[in-house]
Amino acid sequence: MLENLKANNRNWAARKTAVDPSFFTRLAGQQAPEYLWIGCSDSRVPANEIVDLDPGELFVHRNVANLAPPQDANYLSVLQFAVDVIQVKHIMVVGHYGCGGVAAAVDGQRRGLVDHWLHPIREVHQEHICELQALPDERARWDRLVELNVARQVRNVASDVFVQDAWARGQPLHVHGWVYSLTNGLVTDLDITEGPPGTKDGQRS
Ligand code: ZN
Repeated sequence: MLENLKANNRNWAARKTAVDPSFFTRLAGQQAPEYLWIGCSDSRVPANEIVDLDPGELFVHRNVANLAPPQDANYLSVLQFAVDVIQVKHIMVVGHYGCGGVAAAVDGQRRGLVDHWLHPIREVHQEHICELQALPDERARWDRLVELNVARQVRNVASDVFVQDAWARGQPLHVHGWVYSLTNGLVTDLDITEGPPGTKDGQRS
């Protein structure tokens, strides 16, 4: 079973050590990534590959529709570990155009548990209903809702006590909002970065 994947794994490990014999022994000794990626579970959005980083260089949390819900213990545990222990310098919330989770949040169909998970996106949708309805077509509304969802999650991360406490300690940390395009492989920075209070990216009131 899954022999092709196991063969892939052996080939991958061999290729890595052929280029750099100490690759795995060096990585095993430490985990000190400078970035936390909060992205969608979608198989077409592979975090490390998109930003061309090796194992050990990116701390990753992924869930359906890249949410950062302030009552989700999984996300909060990752966030606290990244901020307090690893002390990452940057957190990127990365949405993607064509996100099925975002579409499912507002298409009116019932799917079960995931409808509860996606509830925050329906709130974002309601808050921005005028802006969204003014857009010319379904695709434009979908793309914009993806962006608005990222913006909301950036605010969730930036207003979290772990991040607020890090800033109060003077820890360098920025929270960024990105959107990835499935059709050309490129990331767009939404330019909504939040940083320590009193700096250029300090929280907007
Ligand atoms: Zn998605």
